[in-house]
Amino acid sequence: MSIDKDQLETRLIHASSHVDIERKTGAVNVPIYLSSTFHQESFDDFGPFDYSRTGNPTRQVLEQTIANLEGGVRGLAFSSGMAAISSAFMLLSAGDHVLISEDVYGGTYRFVTEILTKFKFDYTFVNMTDLHETAKAIRANTKVIYVETPSNPCLNITDIEGIVKIARANQCHTFLDNTFMTPLYQKPLELGVDIVLHSATKFLSGHSDIIAGLAVTKNEELGEQLAFIQNSFGSILGAQDSYHLIRGIKTLSARLNQSSYSAEKLASYLHDHPLIEEVFYPSLTYHPGNSIHARQSKGNGAVLSFRLPDKDAAKTFIEQIRLPVFAVSLGGVESILSYPATMSHAAMPKKERLKRGITDGLFRLSVGLEHVDDLIADLNQALRVVEHQRTLV
Ligand SMILES: *Cc1c(COP(=O)(O)O)cnc(C)c1O
Repeated sequence: MSIDKDQLETRLIHASSHVDIERKTGAVNVPIYLSSTFHQESFDDFGPFDYSRTGNPTRQVLEQTIANLEGGVRGLAFSSGMAAISSAFMLLSAGDHVLISEDVYGGTYRFVTEILTKFKFDYTFVNMTDLHETAKAIRANTKVIYVETPSNPCLNITDIEGIVKIARANQCHTFLDNTFMTPLYQKPLELGVDIVLHSATKFLSGHSDIIAGLAVTKNEELGEQLAFIQNSFGSILGAQDSYHLIRGIKTLSARLNQSSYSAEKLASYLHDHPLIEEVFYPSLTYHPGNSIHARQSKGNGAVLSFRLPDKDAAKTFIEQIRLPVFAVSLGGVESILSYPATMSHAAMPKKERLKRGITDGLFRLSVGLEHVDDLIADLNQALRVVEHQRTLV
């Protein structure tokens, strides 16, 4: 019976084990095929694998798994999220124009503004929460609309179906970075997106122990083209990391549901705190993207952002906080607190950064699996010190 009829939570566990490889041994886990090359039994009839850059059995299981979970036809695993994203951009040709969410991930911003431009691509950053503005920015040579929703770090919400409609009317493809939601909460291909991209370093692997990227295409033609680029560029995911990612994916729903539950509680705690100027989380009813997000996603995720008054407050806060690690990245079992101004968005000029709401008081919190009461108590004691210090000056 086909696994495709099962709920996503079930497929997270079983999608990777419905492959022929294990049938020979009964092993419940995928073997790690540490082999760069493959012996060919016959002179003129080669087997399914020849060289691991082109294809590796462990990586192939991962690639089939993510394609199944996202509801696409072809999955591809890369050595990082940026490798997946930059490879997808290589589907374009010189002279093409792309529209990009203005609050895109900092590394994507850097790739577009400093690498793509060398190859005579043109780009425009637009506020994709505004469909009129997006449609107006389309040019005759626009080939791709690149979306991130919720975006990073202010969790702006883009109407995916609205963007797809604009893209289709203008013969463009839509690419979407689904890192924050994962296929558990958001299925962009079902809404008409052509390629879904992931930093699998984050929630999909979930333990802050590997760097990995994934792409899934809606149709076979794009899948073939992207596989050709993957093989030509060679930024593939190794067999060991492919195994780790398959393992991480199995616990995704337990982790993400629990962390999202805690994130919701933390968002409402922070919202009520007098020192916090703003909280960004899609479930907050005053969040401008609240209803669109609720329509296109099944969950709010484990990432939220909040704004302290200024840099001094931010510094004191970080010096006091005990539980979350102070680091870049997100999506781990440990809570991760990051400071976008000098971390994820350090590559962005200050003027661009402030325009996107990334002030010197902004923090992003990726909520892990600690008990939520401990996290709230920790935030509370750190904020108390900040408050105390502010009354002294
Ligand atoms: C981390 C991240 C990336 C980049 O992925 P890497 O695995 O670090 O290369 C891209 N998009 C988003 C939304 C991210 O959070």
